[in-house]
Amino acid sequence: MIRIVRPRLPSELESSLLKLTQELANTPVPERGDHTQRMWERHTVRRDVYRPVRDALEEMAPGVDCCMYCGNHMADTVDHFVPKSHCTLRTFYWPNLLLACSTCNTRFKGDKHRGDGLVGSLLIDPTREDPFDHLDLRLASGVYRPVDGSRKGKWTIRVCGLNEGRRPRVRANAWLSLEDDLKGWARARADGDRKGMRRKEWRMRNQPFADVYHAALRKAASDDAEVMFTNTDPDILDLLRDEELSAALHA
Ligand SMILES: [Zn+2]
Repeated sequence: MIRIVRPRLPSELESSLLKLTQELANTPVPERGDHTQRMWERHTVRRDVYRPVRDALEEMAPGVDCCMYCGNHMADTVDHFVPKSHCTLRTFYWPNLLLACSTCNTRFKGDKHRGDGLVGSLLIDPTREDPFDHLDLRLASGVYRPVDGSRKGKWTIRVCGLNEGRRPRVRANAWLSLEDDLKGWARARADGDRKGMRRKEWRMRNQPFADVYHAALRKAASDDAEVMFTNTDPDILDLLRDEELSAALHA
């Protein structure tokens, strides 16, 4: 899970969402739940609102449409951060919409939601805060751990199933691929092979589990980076701090 910047929507789409919210607000409270579901499935809403919103979310997602919860790529569903069943009036509220893979949207997170005891959510919203303030990703094992026992970190790991099934293994594999690509990029640069550099940059930008690269960057920038990367090839730490590579990957 990584920090994602949420842009403003085109004004036409924004006003379509507002109109739908208004329609819901005008619906008597006891009927709102059923009406929300009918609206969400309405043909014109799917065509004129759902699809453009999903396109906008895909645009803001890292990598190739990476799921904003688990980080795997090719996510293609619009998830309600606060579920429709908990707050119908947020069904068409842009800040409540995230891109999720179907596994996160249905099998793991689904309708689970819990407040933090104040006014916020116990689930990390990557469009509002930096998930790495609560989550630490162990690169070698691909396992997530809560930072300093963070409640939000614990709940997010559990409710999004971040360490379930093969997810850690695939993340550990993504880290190995990333190490190879970083070294390959450095070799290409030493050889003056611009095409080879672009190729490696493309691979790194488009790999699944974009959170692995971002977690590595965050660790490389921390004060105890030398300790965290003790068992890693020393070149890797230098490459994660390389300004030319960083500029190329964030272009
Ligand atoms: Zn997911």
